[in-house]
Amino acid sequence: MKIICIGRNYFDHVKELDNPVPNKPLVFMKPSTALLINNDPMYIPDFTDDLHYEGEIVLHICKNGRHVQPDFVKGYYDKIAFGIDFTARDLQKKCKDKGHPWEISKAFDKSAGLSKFISVDGLDMKNLKFQTKLNGEIVQDGNTKDLIFDFEYIICYVSQFFKLHVGDLIYTGTPAGVGSVKIGDTLEGSIEGKEMLNCLIK
Ligand code: MG
Repeated sequence: MKIICIGRNYFDHVKELDNPVPNKPLVFMKPSTALLINNDPMYIPDFTDDLHYEGEIVLHICKNGRHVQPDFVKGYYDKIAFGIDFTARDLQKKCKDKGHPWEISKAFDKSAGLSKFISVDGLDMKNLKFQTKLNGEIVQDGNTKDLIFDFEYIICYVSQFFKLHVGDLIYTGTPAGVGSVKIGDTLEGSIEGKEMLNCLIK
């Protein structure tokens, strides 16, 4: 399986990091070794002094496909989860400044926090609330109506380059409010008010 991630997909987050607004989805990937599941704690890696959380909605792909066309995109994902795209922001800045790939700052071991999944049945994917709490306080208050590129557009776009397989995951981008964590912090993620993920930082 592969983990496909979309960056800069909410205007307010693009602005907070002073990035240009993209006219195509910004795509990067994480290997399967990046997964952090079962509410396992996140150990701050020793190569960063600025580990950031990015709370995101994650799509679970349930159908193989390449070059998926808009008329047929419905039904390509069946479940969603709350994910944290952990980012070594200091390292990412160095990579960006040099024009280098940023995988070492984004795709390292355990950098893809992932909750349990819930079915998409009965959920409105174009108006889905999700929140990140840091030590009990809401730090990210997102809604998928604010996406720059919606879920279906993302699936069509990425499948031009990468064949989608059942079990692949797509991290769809983070809203404003990203920030750093320190040892002892707790991150919680919810979708439509339902607690999905709880992660202790160690
Ligand atoms: Mg992200």
